[in-house]
Amino acid sequence: MTETPTTSREWHLVARPQGWPEPKDFALREAAVPQPGPGQIVVRNVFLSVDPYMRGRMSAAKSYVEPYELGKPMLGGAVGRVVASAAEGFAEGDHVLHHFGWREYAAVNAKGAVKVDPEAAPLSTYLGVLGMPGLTAYAGLLRVADFKEGDTVFVSGAAGAVGSQVGQIAKLKGAARVIGSAGSDEKVRVLTEEYGFDAAFNYKNGPVAEQLQAAAPDGIDVYFDNVGGDHLEAAIGAMNVHGRIAVCGMISQYNATEPTPAPRNLAQIIAKRLRIEGLLVGDHYDLQQQFVEEVSAWVRSGELKYRETTVSGIENTVDAFLGMLRGENTGKMLVSLG
Ligand code: NAP
Repeated sequence: MTETPTTSREWHLVARPQGWPEPKDFALREAAVPQPGPGQIVVRNVFLSVDPYMRGRMSAAKSYVEPYELGKPMLGGAVGRVVASAAEGFAEGDHVLHHFGWREYAAVNAKGAVKVDPEAAPLSTYLGVLGMPGLTAYAGLLRVADFKEGDTVFVSGAAGAVGSQVGQIAKLKGAARVIGSAGSDEKVRVLTEEYGFDAAFNYKNGPVAEQLQAAAPDGIDVYFDNVGGDHLEAAIGAMNVHGRIAVCGMISQYNATEPTPAPRNLAQIIAKRLRIEGLLVGDHYDLQQQFVEEVSAWVRSGELKYRETTVSGIENTVDAFLGMLRGENTGKMLVSLG
């Protein structure tokens, strides 16, 4: 068995990014490996999650989660192995999901940790297809967008962690047609050839509205928005009467320094009687068990496919985060600490 070292590394936010984050906004610092306090476990992280919402926490603006504190370790989803426990019900060797990522070792209050089983599914999937992004897709499509069999569904960010699951769940639940947009021709190929999307387009190849119109000549009933801006405007333009839009994310705006002009066609909401609703995954944990049961069965049977893009080494966490914002991932972006 490997000895637990006395020091470990953790990422701190040292400056609030203006526009695109830069490596100089972050610092990798050494810290003592903690001892567990009463009710705590110490975890050696195996996978760290890097997620779009983290960009929001780097800003001081008021939001639904607290901003990251400058000069303090950053937070985020992680899975790891318990190396010491002072908490009832947790033993050395257990694997847990928790929120103290961006570091090699973490002291975690056991109440904030969820045991996961690496025999039931690969550890990394608890951060992706069976984790928070998966539940976001499931709840966002089925509950917030009120998906119904026979709907035509459009999802942006379709080759990412959330989007790839939205499109496949829609197909599995009987969508008439599923259309996705993504930022490369290779991602478009994956959507149509591997994930069963009926149509997909590269939003960098031409105006979104024109490409969507060609892919959905009879309009769309549901739009699952991961991108905002021109994608949202194009979707409003393509919506059928009584269409529903679940606004999950607006990644095209996260690094913007000026407000973006689109969508300019909000008046169509009236004539088309559209419903547009924001979505926060935290409101939908009551669906967790149902989600895990249904989606893990689809994953086991091969009906739902997923990809992960994994970067190795704690020192490459910022690169992984920036790479995810630039679209270097297909499926969930993860950092492996081995
Ligand atoms: P992801 O899609 O796996 O990764 C982000 C992707 O965004 C990139 O791969 C990139 O792919 C795309 N992107 C980046 N800049 C873009 C731009 N200007 N225009 C269009 N696409 C762009 O990330 P995820 O974790 O699945 O999250 C997807 C969305 O869901 C994000 O907006 C996120 O904030 C949101 N989300 C919301 C909740 C919630 O509770 N509301 C929970 C989880 C995630 P391309 O190569 O296609 O550009």
